[in-house]
Amino acid sequence: MTHDAQPTASHFIDGQYVEDTAGDAIAVIYPATGEQIATVHAATPAIIDRALDSAARAQADWAALPGVERGRILRRAADILRDRNDALSRLETLDTGKPIQETLVADATSGADALEYFGGLAGDISGRHIPLGGGDFAYTIPRPLGVCAGIGAWNYPTQIACWKGAPALAAGNAMVFKPSETTPLCALKVAEILHEAGLPPGLFNVIQGAGPVGAALSTDPRVAKVSLTGSVPTGRKVYAAAAQSMKHVTMELGGKSPLVIFDDATLDDAVSGAINANFYSSGQVCSNGTRVFVHEAVVGDFLERLEARVAKAVIGDPLDPATNFGPMTTEAQMQIVLGHLDTARAEGARVVCGGHRIERAGYWIAPTVLADVTDAMTCARDEIFGPVMSVLTFTAEDEVIARANDTAFGLSAGVFTRDIARAHRVVAQLKAGTAWINEYNLTPAGMPFGGSKASGIGRENAREALDHFTEVQTVYVGTHPVEAAF
Ligand code: NAD
Repeated sequence: MTHDAQPTASHFIDGQYVEDTAGDAIAVIYPATGEQIATVHAATPAIIDRALDSAARAQADWAALPGVERGRILRRAADILRDRNDALSRLETLDTGKPIQETLVADATSGADALEYFGGLAGDISGRHIPLGGGDFAYTIPRPLGVCAGIGAWNYPTQIACWKGAPALAAGNAMVFKPSETTPLCALKVAEILHEAGLPPGLFNVIQGAGPVGAALSTDPRVAKVSLTGSVPTGRKVYAAAAQSMKHVTMELGGKSPLVIFDDATLDDAVSGAINANFYSSGQVCSNGTRVFVHEAVVGDFLERLEARVAKAVIGDPLDPATNFGPMTTEAQMQIVLGHLDTARAEGARVVCGGHRIERAGYWIAPTVLADVTDAMTCARDEIFGPVMSVLTFTAEDEVIARANDTAFGLSAGVFTRDIARAHRVVAQLKAGTAWINEYNLTPAGMPFGGSKASGIGRENAREALDHFTEVQTVYVGTHPVEAAF
């Protein structure tokens, strides 16, 4: 079957596609079948140089434009993304294996939301006036940082490119974006569309490659900031590399987030929340609530309803609109998840459903629910990044808060209860960058998103993202004769 996924060239630099076959070949695999659908080449040092130089050249003029003009271009790009949602969603499905039912509503559309949102805010990036008495005052100028590097994970290639690119560009920066080597296709389309919308050449360059290309960006003196979406171990490396030249960083890393279901919760909503928190994108979502703490009084009922709902998952061709559960994005990730399932069984977890590979071409794991999970089990401690839900039980509010917080991660959390006082009291005590009450995993562009503890620093989306793509210059204005000691 031909998928027409081969891009015009591997990189997009200075407003055009660029090829350099001297870089290592990267095979692009459609995870639903295992077939190769495209080839790109990793950036050579010459390509990295070209991308950074062109970004540096373009940035000052871009920063000097009125914010509304920058914003207009971003909003135009949002419209184009929406117009082409069908084709972009298909490409996202080919790149990641996620069902088209998901990609039609969660990827180019989410990217368009970010471009529209930050396009609207671009004209309103402003500082503060600080009266200092006696007529003196200070004011602040939020200044763009310069050239920013964006490094993406493989689960949301279009969305990550837009979530990083939109606030960076709105604030007057240029960005060199390196997608994950396993999903290199979608970011090229984002670059193409931004330029079609009128973005001057050089401001959003895309270069391909694996860790070494990301590492080159993280250490280059031309780069003022690195924004990474990836795993905690990669985050540690990038953060340390960036520290050598005091670069700004945003780290959107992994998690092992708790989802707490009290005995007064609307149980069908809680089951829906737990499904969204574990099986969307086949569990390859950083913020997933993979430790599901269910009150002992309702755990039997919860598991029964959950099992019946999971049995309704439509597993099949991701390009079929009826399919709602797809494969792992890579074979390596499938092997990691299978290893976790073996460990979970060996440590005493009970498999309620799933727990195995699905025998078909490609990299499929059945949606899995593990019960009788205890806090010490590996499946309750390590990020699995696959369709594996661990169900634990609790009896008391204080107890579940302490257990929910007993993790190195702090990305997200969720609470299902009909008691509003308890809902707010509990989330206030959960150490998580984002928490949902009676919902899970919704991340609209206007809401800050990011992690605490090992899950990262900085925030994406909302006004907070602009703070992370600017730095404040303070100006003191004297209005009196200057006094001096002598
Ligand atoms: P990864 O850490 O393996 O790779 C992420 C990116 O970093 C890739 O582009 C990779 O090429 C690059 N990279 C690898 N080594 C590097 C180095 N030394 N220097 C610079 N760049 C380097 O992560 P992944 O497997 O692609 O994604 C899965 C992980 O990402 C999970 O842990 C998941 O939780 C996390 N994630 C977090 C968020 C979030 O917003 N917090 C979103 C999606 C995924």
